[in-house]
Amino acid sequence: MVGSEEVGATKPEWTLVWDNRFREYAFGPDHPFTEESRWLAVRLMEAEGLFAHGAPRSGALVHTVPVATRGELERFHEVSYLDLVEQASHIRQSFPLDQGDTPSFLGCYEAAARIARGTITAADSVFDGPPRAFNPGGGLHHAHADRASGFCIFNDLGITIATQLRTAGRRVAYIDIDAHHGDGVMYGFYEEGRVLDIDFHQDGRTLFPGTGAVEETGRGDGTGLKINVPLPPGAGDDAFRALFRRIVPPMLRSFRPDLLLLQNGVDAHVDDGLAGLALTPASYSEVVTSLRALAHELCHGRLVVTGGGGYTAANVSRVLARVGRVLSGEEIDPSERKELPRSWRTEFESTLGSSAPLEWLDSGMPTRSARAPSWTHMLIGEIEEALGRPLPEETNDS
Ligand SMILES: [Zn+2]
Repeated sequence: MVGSEEVGATKPEWTLVWDNRFREYAFGPDHPFTEESRWLAVRLMEAEGLFAHGAPRSGALVHTVPVATRGELERFHEVSYLDLVEQASHIRQSFPLDQGDTPSFLGCYEAAARIARGTITAADSVFDGPPRAFNPGGGLHHAHADRASGFCIFNDLGITIATQLRTAGRRVAYIDIDAHHGDGVMYGFYEEGRVLDIDFHQDGRTLFPGTGAVEETGRGDGTGLKINVPLPPGAGDDAFRALFRRIVPPMLRSFRPDLLLLQNGVDAHVDDGLAGLALTPASYSEVVTSLRALAHELCHGRLVVTGGGGYTAANVSRVLARVGRVLSGEEIDPSERKELPRSWRTEFESTLGSSAPLEWLDSGMPTRSARAPSWTHMLIGEIEEALGRPLPEETNDS
């Protein structure tokens, strides 16, 4: 493993992949996407002692990540697009790499390619190291083979899936809980029978990129393996968790993956600034806890998690740090009202120039689940109709 370091007294259960140069993926101070909030998540994990020497659940760290090679990037991206980004990367003047949201910047090729290598490394590490791995800087799911999109220059997830398929012949189950549809990943493997793609997102009729309708279920070998779960604006924990529980465990059990890959975007959070969904931290903890158990049941514990969207630093940093805690093996109490470390709050404020949150969970955040709204049953019916078959049966332990 490149640049890795085992810091625990016992064998680590998970690996964090984070190179401080991921922060060079920066579109400028006025752009909504920033790796600074992902970096603050890493700092919060460190402040919580998740890598402390001798700590019971101490993780392994990969802190030196090289830039992905051309050959690695070409597993997913077209040569002409890579040439374009490389040229733009040498020019100080910024120009749009897509319709306008994703501008070039000096060094953008190397910055995006390093994050891509981070996710490749995370996936490799679960086969020759601890079973779980996390790249909070990754999750750039909108980039297509031939173009940038939605703040995403290179699709680290697509490149990683292609690497797992083509160099190792592995079956990958990809789960995406970002508020936006993971179009780059889904279309990149739309005809691929070794990739199960389950994507929860705000309905494309109300949010970028507009895709991810129930009817998009895959083609050719991929038929029936792309499952889109479009949620109406305002949907929250009750709907999301009921749908997740009904769809994800049985689909994973029937697919039998070699690896689970989760894009853990945080922009479906109730307080996010860009999207209109209403998840609370309890949903995020449940997803990772559930996938941790399913990975253990189905594929020797192999679970890789990336970050993704998320435009409110206080939420992105806390939710992603909690993901790290779950990956470390901790059982999270969803109503936990623990205070955040003072040193971390100071760092947050000096980095972002805004007030840091006081506790892991904001007061007033609902933590109890009510009944799922009735539209979730209709949505399951629509998904089954689009698939042309019923979803596999649930089992009691999911
Ligand atoms: Zn998003």
